[in-house]
Amino acid sequence: MPAPTPTEHAELAPSASDRWLHCPGSVVLNADEDEDTEWEKEGSLAHAMCELKLRKYFGLCPDGGKRPMGPRRYKTELEKLKSDKLYQPEMDGYTDEYVDYIKDLANGFSSKPAVFVEVKLDISNFVPGSFGRADCILIHGTDLYVNDFKYGRNIEVPAENNPQLMLYALGALMAYQAFWQIDTVRMTIIQPRAGGIKEFATTTQKLLDWGTFKVRPAAQLAADHTKEYHSGDWCRWCAAAATCREHANSVTKAVKDFKGLLPPQLSMPEFGKLLQKLGPLKRYIKQAREYAENALLQGKEIPGWKLIEGNGKRVWDNQETAFTALTSAGVAETLLYHREPYTLAQIEKQMGKKEFSAAVGAHVVRQPGKPALAEESDRHPAWSPRSTADDDFKDLIKKGDTNNG
Ligand code: SF4
Repeated sequence: MPAPTPTEHAELAPSASDRWLHCPGSVVLNADEDEDTEWEKEGSLAHAMCELKLRKYFGLCPDGGKRPMGPRRYKTELEKLKSDKLYQPEMDGYTDEYVDYIKDLANGFSSKPAVFVEVKLDISNFVPGSFGRADCILIHGTDLYVNDFKYGRNIEVPAENNPQLMLYALGALMAYQAFWQIDTVRMTIIQPRAGGIKEFATTTQKLLDWGTFKVRPAAQLAADHTKEYHSGDWCRWCAAAATCREHANSVTKAVKDFKGLLPPQLSMPEFGKLLQKLGPLKRYIKQAREYAENALLQGKEIPGWKLIEGNGKRVWDNQETAFTALTSAGVAETLLYHREPYTLAQIEKQMGKKEFSAAVGAHVVRQPGKPALAEESDRHPAWSPRSTADDDFKDLIKKGDTNNG
């Protein structure tokens, strides 16, 4: 099995479909974005590890050939992946979580399912010239299972109506419908570092209708390189976001909406709306600053802006020599070094999740976090000062019971 290589992308790739389905004009503006970012490379490495582990478990050949992989070959391939500079021990645990989910799913059926790992799917029936790679597809009875591993930790990817998964499912239907009767499509995102398992199911008919009436016309517009732009949440994934006129207008309009209105203070409903609109603006400011810094570093000019030297800090020219001089001058070692424990997260990262959990999982407790602001739609329940007070009270009663008993 080859080490992860830069991903092969279709112009209208399923992974970018949330963007081009909403904003067909973005295709041209993203045409030059071929280079994988560091976090994309890290994701590719984790995916390669998932693929290897699944192929081993299901007895599939690593190169798509007929002979299953023996333990020696598996070990060599795994070592190769682990020698990548982006590998961290925690990756082993997170990819195991994904593999365990697929194993449990496959073992939960009354008979062996059909299994396809890292399979290339043709979706050109709906999206001109496009294809995608599904991480793992299972077929059992009249159900099609599309499983997608996500390694990201910052943004939770939802499964419900997720166009990337639905496009993979359409590709799988096109590939396997002639051999299996498929009535239900079950799509799952396994994102061990953000949100865990997320599932969404629909019927084959609904999916085909979506592909025919929603995707096909929108994809054709995008493939025709139309100049139609629509700004929204999907702009966060757009390489052109910093300089896109549509996006700039849309995010800055949010604050203009409140200009010149009376009374002088915003009402709470108005304030709530404003807060909602500040999210994209905050993201835009970050994107715009990063873009500007890169452009100036590359020698481009942005009138009114320049790069300045950041605050430098004092460092030793040679730490060893400096410390020798300090000890010779009678400075005690306790003034030069201090010992402090690594954090829980750092130790878990170094050991890997499984080993960490087996060794010290029982000593890990969760302290309540500080209340944080979130939109009404957030999946977490609303924080209430009463619930914490009630819990404390319950604890007191329990202690009282024990003392009295
Ligand atoms: S930033 Fe948004 S509106 Fe502009 S091209 Fe990209 S997706 Fe479209």
